Amino acid sequence: MQDQKKNPRSIWYYYAIVFLVVTLIRWLIMPMIMSAQVKVTNYSEFINSVEADEVTQVQFSDTEIKYITEKDGKMYLCKTGVVDNPQLPQMLQEKNITYTAEIPETPNVFLSLLFSYGLPILLFSLIGRRIIRNFRGKMGPAGLSIHGQGTAKVYKPDEDKKTFKDVAGQEEAKESLMEIIDYLNNPIKYQEVGAQCPKGVLLVGPPGTGKTLIAKAVAGEADVPFFPISGSEFVEMFVGRGAARVRELFEQANKQAPCIVFIDEIDTIGKRRDSQFSTNDEREQTLNQLLTEMDGFEGNKGVIILAATNRPEVLDPALLRPGRFDRQVRMELPDLKGREAILEVHLNRVKTAGDIDVNFVARMTAGASGAQLANIVNEAALRAVRMGRNSVTTSDLVESVETVIAGAEKKNAILSKKEKEIVAYHEIGHALVAAKQSGSAPVQKITIIPRTSGALGYTMQVEEGEKSLFSREDALQRLEVLCGGRAAEEVVFDSITTGASNDIEKATEIARNMVTRYGMSEKFGMMALETGGNNYLGGGGQSTCSPETARLVDEEVRDIIAEAYDGAVKTLKENREKMNELAGYLLEKETITGDEFMKILEGKAV
Ligand code: ADP
Ligand code: MG
Ligand code: ZN
Repeated sequence: MQDQKKNPRSIWYYYAIVFLVVTLIRWLIMPMIMSAQVKVTNYSEFINSVEADEVTQVQFSDTEIKYITEKDGKMYLCKTGVVDNPQLPQMLQEKNITYTAEIPETPNVFLSLLFSYGLPILLFSLIGRRIIRNFRGKMGPAGLSIHGQGTAKVYKPDEDKKTFKDVAGQEEAKESLMEIIDYLNNPIKYQEVGAQCPKGVLLVGPPGTGKTLIAKAVAGEADVPFFPISGSEFVEMFVGRGAARVRELFEQANKQAPCIVFIDEIDTIGKRRDSQFSTNDEREQTLNQLLTEMDGFEGNKGVIILAATNRPEVLDPALLRPGRFDRQVRMELPDLKGREAILEVHLNRVKTAGDIDVNFVARMTAGASGAQLANIVNEAALRAVRMGRNSVTTSDLVESVETVIAGAEKKNAILSKKEKEIVAYHEIGHALVAAKQSGSAPVQKITIIPRTSGALGYTMQVEEGEKSLFSREDALQRLEVLCGGRAAEEVVFDSITTGASNDIEKATEIARNMVTRYGMSEKFGMMALETGGNNYLGGGGQSTCSPETARLVDEEVRDIIAEAYDGAVKTLKENREKMNELAGYLLEKETITGDEFMKILEGKAV
């Protein structure tokens, strides 16, 4: 509202500045430029030039003589004073130089003012309007509230309506949100008892788990307007707008109650306000305004604020206290059942051919988020189209999982025969170590077709079910499998290559976590050596130990990996014959299935 008054005023400032600038140009800069171009000469120089045939044109006026000379092909505009010299016209005549007397101008005040002021001001004001309009455009769909529009876009319940059916899995989240939907549908029931509806609910979880989706679905289920706004929009264009935007948002929401306001990525404005360093006043004011607004409106009006974040640990505690975002709904990465459900929701939107082994695809995608699964289904549909089919098959899905994990196949990559052999032994090394372990995930597929991600081949293991707890033995087995590739290279070729870099990275991470986070080393036992780190976005935590201990940790990590490596070498040496047979078969076929692999390993015919 302030801006309605403020804006016209700032437009007048703008015009005043334009007027000043134009005046400056007209009376100071222009004459300077003009005079800089005109060379002032003596009268005798002028006469000399005339005699040297350099002058091409002369113009007389009462106070000065302007003339143009041409020297070495360059033109100069010069002027000199008037000397009473009656021979001059004759002289010019002889030299055949055109000369004119200036026609005394009747100065047209109106026209000259129009050109020196009117035109520039018109131009500037056109440009100015353009700029102002652009600013407004960038402020979001509704822009500044000059025209009395609000800030957030109103989603009418019927446009782009999502319901809980679109959100697969996440049953716990749905259950906690059910109460809010029920409140929005029958507020009387709650008011009779005197119960207040929670004002704010914070959706917390890793990216792509459907936080935005479920917020929209809550509005859809309750059939109320949905006001989405992203945290970053508050802090966007103009300094000082953030707090005003919060006010406007709540004003509009209050008018539309019951409704749902959704603040996405709330951590942009809701960061803890403690640090003395890097204070961002703008953000702080916006947050303060948000806190005030949340306190201001009554819980029973039916405005419910949902907010989403994947960094709950950075949020300001004031935001989380009762009466504000006092409820947290966790959206975790889907488990096996959840992944199946999500795949099914998205598969419903594409045409499928016959039976799709959803369970298998779900098992392949442990750790994938809802967004990734949606992407996998879409990739599969694209692949079906590429292959000239009109429906999606299981193999499309499997292939697109691989594409998402390892990149697309690079069919025309050129590897020398020797390199291919090394890759084949490397992959067989992984697979063989895995197969010889009891209880590790069965090998599903081995391929030595290079991928665009840079992988020259890979071995895919698919767990039979879902695992939530990993034992120390599991971790050690996993390490051995990771070491199997490099170990095979060493056992067979007695030389090692760069092909194991990814394995080394993963193995080190596992071993380090075993020591610093999971208390799985004998030396340190249950001692946390690392804290923090974001649960959802990954990223390392902070080491909490002294430098001496850190050195011991490194040693421990090294020992664990070395032990796993020795284990892998031992397994491979024991199965040296089989390894040759398997690698030969893989070299020939380039891609083999887990079944083929097991049959050869067990000595059966393929
Ligand atoms: P977030 O806000 O948590 O980062 P989104 O809600 O934007 O994630 O999810 C992105 C997309 O992923 C959704 O549009 C949807 O297609 C898909 N998706 C994520 N979770 C689910 C789910 N549980 N059920 C169905 N689709 C999902
Ligand atoms: Mg989101
Ligand atoms: Zn490897």
